[in-house]
Amino acid sequence: MRFLTAALGFALPFAAAKVSYDGYKAFRIDDQLDYAGVQKALSDISFKSLSVENTRKGIEIAVAPESIKAFEALGLKTHVVHEDLGADIALEGQFKPYRASIKAFGANSSGELPDISYFNSYHELADHHQFLDDISAYLPDNSETFVAGKSVEGRDIKGIHLYGKEGAGKKPAIIWHGNVHAREWITGVTVEYLLYKIAEGYKKTGDESTATTLDNYDFYIIPVVNPDGFVYTTAEDRMWRKNRQVRQGKTCVGTDMNRNWPNQWDIPGGSSPEACSETYRGEAAGDTPEIAALTNHTLKVADAAGIKWYVDWHSYSQLILTPYGYDCNTDPANLDRQLELAGGLAKAIKSVHGVEFVYGPTCKTIYQAAGGSMDWVYDIAEAELAWGIELRPGSDDSNGFVLPPDQIVPSGEEQWAGAKWVFANF
Ligand SMILES: [Zn+2]
Repeated sequence: MRFLTAALGFALPFAAAKVSYDGYKAFRIDDQLDYAGVQKALSDISFKSLSVENTRKGIEIAVAPESIKAFEALGLKTHVVHEDLGADIALEGQFKPYRASIKAFGANSSGELPDISYFNSYHELADHHQFLDDISAYLPDNSETFVAGKSVEGRDIKGIHLYGKEGAGKKPAIIWHGNVHAREWITGVTVEYLLYKIAEGYKKTGDESTATTLDNYDFYIIPVVNPDGFVYTTAEDRMWRKNRQVRQGKTCVGTDMNRNWPNQWDIPGGSSPEACSETYRGEAAGDTPEIAALTNHTLKVADAAGIKWYVDWHSYSQLILTPYGYDCNTDPANLDRQLELAGGLAKAIKSVHGVEFVYGPTCKTIYQAAGGSMDWVYDIAEAELAWGIELRPGSDDSNGFVLPPDQIVPSGEEQWAGAKWVFANF
């Protein structure tokens, strides 16, 4: 049946999420309230918080249908992110067939590039993994897929290693991680778009700059580093952020993987010790299986030929964030260089669709965040550049984490232009 619907070109139905946001209206609160102040002001309102606790970028909440009138009567300064969050989730969740269509039409049997229509919709985890296999089949002499380790629930943390004419592991590394926060769906597909462009450019005659880049750098790309959380967003709760670790004696599930990296892990104010918090750091530095796998993998890559550029992709709010997150008064030795390149990247991104990205050190630009990936990769794995990039949409736009699929390609196009600028200038 799946085969038949795919062959006819229909969208496959989204596996209905069990947590319903139907009728929920999502707002960004623009008043200068802190998180505790918002919690207090909203004590009689039924809502789900979509922000982390210590944000300086405004607080986003989804208000339950029965509380919308009461919330609006509070007279807070807000703007609407989703008129009906549930309706937008349903639209976004119309996954189009990927592998099914390939089987139907016989494509890729000879290692062709995957169909670009992959980027017309979001996908299930299995399709993300299949996409990596298909890129590897297209570039058999210059790539291999790898598994960095297993998630809490035993899923593969699967990536692809691309290398140039001198073979694997000889050149400085570029490492890209996507979807550490489960609900940030635009990140995995945007990273895959960049992967697609590298693969396409390397084989195409005439794209000298991409060929040179891959001959000079090894790429290690993991589009979904939090597979359990991601699957949970496709099957249970679209707005889930953390991993799915169950801990003894804790009622809440999940650790924020991006507060669990073992470096400056428990700096006060940079994360939460409470298991129910969206920024719960875990009970010990690096005590999630996912971060254990990612630190091992990253150190192995660093030992081979060093790390030139690390990016951990997030959404949303259009930011290019450099170290440090853990402290606002400490700067990396090469901060000026990192900011110069981040500024060039922002300019290159803007040149494509006019979308503005702000750049700066994480703590000073967005919020204090300890135990984050970029600080660890910069300090411990000694990457030259270690960034977090927050993709579309902007913080003043509508949407948020639930970005319509027709923005996948534009997001990919502007990030590809940006990445090419970095390759040419770093
Ligand atoms: Zn994130």
